[in-house]
Amino acid sequence: MKEVLLLKNGEIVLKGLNKKRFEDKLLLNIKSRISSLGKFDLEISQSTITVSPGKNSSVDNIIPVIKKIFGIVSFSKAVIANKNFDDVKKLTLEYLKEDLSILKTFKVEAKRSDKKFFMTSPEISKELGGYILEEFPHLKVDVHNPELTITAEVRDFGVYIRKNAQKGLGGIPTGTGGKASIMISGGIDSPVAAWMMAKRGVFLTAVHFSSPPYTGIKAKQKVIDLLKKVSEYSGSIKLFNVGFTAAQESIKQYCQEEFFTIIMRRIMMKISEIISINEGCSALITGESLGQVASQTINAIDCTNRVVSIPVFRPLIGMDKEEIVKIAREINTFDVSIMPYADCCTVFTPKHPKLDPRIHLVEKEENKLDTQKIIKNCVDNCEVIEIK
Ligand code: ATP
Ligand code: MG
Repeated sequence: MKEVLLLKNGEIVLKGLNKKRFEDKLLLNIKSRISSLGKFDLEISQSTITVSPGKNSSVDNIIPVIKKIFGIVSFSKAVIANKNFDDVKKLTLEYLKEDLSILKTFKVEAKRSDKKFFMTSPEISKELGGYILEEFPHLKVDVHNPELTITAEVRDFGVYIRKNAQKGLGGIPTGTGGKASIMISGGIDSPVAAWMMAKRGVFLTAVHFSSPPYTGIKAKQKVIDLLKKVSEYSGSIKLFNVGFTAAQESIKQYCQEEFFTIIMRRIMMKISEIISINEGCSALITGESLGQVASQTINAIDCTNRVVSIPVFRPLIGMDKEEIVKIAREINTFDVSIMPYADCCTVFTPKHPKLDPRIHLVEKEENKLDTQKIIKNCVDNCEVIEIK
């Protein structure tokens, strides 16, 4: 009896003529993530991927990884019976006897994609359910809240007998949605924003601004650790660490204090855009959420947005902090994010930042700087770190 893992690929089913491209990418993503965990064969048919372990490999080993792959909407362990009902009964008993002898409630569901099979779905459920009750008289059928749902699914080449399905992450396969750069701080929001865009198929690059000695080595390591967590879902990420000390010191020296944050953020956006375009990315991603802080009012966002021409995705824009924290906890970035190391944005924070900045005043203030030179220096001297 060989146990396999069945993966359902959800939204890809809706992709019409593009379906094959999405499925091929999903298969590639799964293969590369599980390759170090044993030998597995992958096959796709009728929107279900069957993962069959080779000798000395087990599907249990790959489940934690499968739970972190975008594009899989649900998965279940299963065995495959021949297409006759005696074999279905025999294998169900052999496969599930341990569960059935300790549990109290179950139900049987049946699906028939091979409509030529001699029994209908209700007949399969009734017969198989009846057979299990005869063998395990202590069991009760509970159609609403069973401890074990057994699904018998009749396919062209056999009958899958599946245990309880578990929820996958959903989303679409990473790499099918183009490439974009996450502007990542050490905070709670930007790792969540990165994860959300990866969920929509985006392959990530990252840009981080640090200002040594005002920000320390631990702050940089924190960003690397955050990206490692995100990369468990998104695959590898190339990080550009931009030294921002000289830029911030110039802004502080030449510009009025109340404009400090907005000008700093405009320069950060411009530098991120240049790095992104060099890396073949077609968009920026930020963790901004409307009204969360002074630099995230509509006017402030307008002022920073104007310096770039590629799209800027802000997946958290309409979310409350509580909703963002919930995701951060689920993807395990929260505990790293709350470690107390200064971010370059908190260095030289003005006491009274402009809440409602007017673009012509910002530009006038910014013109006191040689922004071209500042930007070129930052782009030319950034450090590249590969996050695997
Ligand atoms: P976060 O929790 O992501 O730090 P935040 O609520 O603290 O966000 P801000 O500090 O205003 O907000 O930053 C807004 C966005 O600007 C961040 O979500 C991130 O995308 C980007 N950002 C902030 N600081 C940095 C940095 N040091 N390097 C790169 N991007 C940054
Ligand atoms: Mg921040």
